[in-house]
Amino acid sequence: MSARPRVFVTGARRGIGRGIAFAFAEAGYDVVINDLVEDDAAAEAIAGVRERGAKAEFITGDVSDLSAIPAIAERAFSAFGGLDCLVNNAGISVKKRGDLLEVTPESYDHLMGVNLRGPFFLTQEIARRMVAAKDATHPRSIISLSSANATLVAPDRAEYCLSKTGVSMMTKLYAVRLGEENIGVFEIRPGIIRTDMTAVVKDKYDRLIEGGLTPTKRWGEPQDIARVAVSLASGNFHFSTGDAFHVDGGLHIHRL
Ligand code: NAD
Repeated sequence: MSARPRVFVTGARRGIGRGIAFAFAEAGYDVVINDLVEDDAAAEAIAGVRERGAKAEFITGDVSDLSAIPAIAERAFSAFGGLDCLVNNAGISVKKRGDLLEVTPESYDHLMGVNLRGPFFLTQEIARRMVAAKDATHPRSIISLSSANATLVAPDRAEYCLSKTGVSMMTKLYAVRLGEENIGVFEIRPGIIRTDMTAVVKDKYDRLIEGGLTPTKRWGEPQDIARVAVSLASGNFHFSTGDAFHVDGGLHIHRL
């Protein structure tokens, strides 16, 4: 039994994941961070968690590598004697935006591997351990980041859209399976968030946002997502599961 709750955030050395790791640390969680490499950015993320008074553990690993997933899950689960929350944040965009008619099988498989196949099997490994642990001192949850593109069609990023629609279904599937285990399963659907992922299209989105693409007329920040993740994990949404939470400044609203 742990006095402090524990969270595992994938892809958290920078961007939204780092913001989520910091917000959980501020909320009193000990934090396990995963990412592809333990570089300077990772060191900043680890230090930032510790500066917020929490314990931090870093696990280098690729969530799309199914042969590595059991070991990643085991390390994450045992770092602080169990886990109360998994945040499937690691994700990639397409290497090159382009015509739907030119999408290659290599690009499709790579993107699906990172954004959907890996998170599905990582969730399975963590969920099995949560179910077996039966030590629900704290509210327990599994939160996955999809995207506004779970529903909004972007034909120049077909593989990305498909992977994120899959994350929506994955959320509902695990919500049904884990409902009786009292593990809430949630999807966060970010809109346009200021990170390295969107830096390549900054000028385009600056113009679109200024022109009214979103009712709120501003970029989202990693903290916007992080605050929602911590709230979902808090147990305040106790009678909700399988839901998708739009954190997009109203981007998803159809307007006339
Ligand atoms: P980012 O590129 O800034 O950060 C992603 C992190 O994940 C990086 O540190 C990267 O190294 C890591 N990562 C990538 N592949 C990995 C793998 N196979 N295994 C482990 N770690 C891996 O991106 P971000 O903007 O912070 O996005 C985080 C999540 O939010 C992604 O799932 C993304 O699809 C989603 N999202 C982002 C936006 C946005 O506007 N930025 C919008 C909608 C959804």
